[in-house]
Amino acid sequence: MYGKHMTRAKLEKLKQEQRRMRYLDTRKICDVFPNIEKIEITYHLHHGSVFGNQDKEGTWNVNLQSQMCFVLDCLNRECSSAGFDLKNEIYDMRRDNLTEKSDEMHCDGQEAPDHPEQRCSGTLHYTIKITYR
Ligand SMILES: [Zn+2]
Repeated sequence: MYGKHMTRAKLEKLKQEQRRMRYLDTRKICDVFPNIEKIEITYHLHHGSVFGNQDKEGTWNVNLQSQMCFVLDCLNRECSSAGFDLKNEIYDMRRDNLTEKSDEMHCDGQEAPDHPEQRCSGTLHYTIKITYR
């Protein structure tokens, strides 16, 4: 099915894209949330394993012209999840007219494809800020 020349890296990439299909929503953010002017997500990703700790921090200024996808990748490259999906958080904030929310999420994936019994230890700490029109 994948052909002879598919490398492991490509295969992983493809699998990640397939998992991400479950988050697919091709509508534009500005069409779904016409009263939102700005969405800013500050994140701190963490993954710890026997090979060491990985951390990544940053700020994501969401482009409102892009598709409805609010997914941050888990730092564990072998992880079986499709990433951290913040879409429900943003829907909830919009419903309650919240301008700021901070919380943490634990990855729902497996640590590695060959360790199905071990949960991924990836975490995300985030702050979402929304500006309404
Ligand atoms: Zn993970």
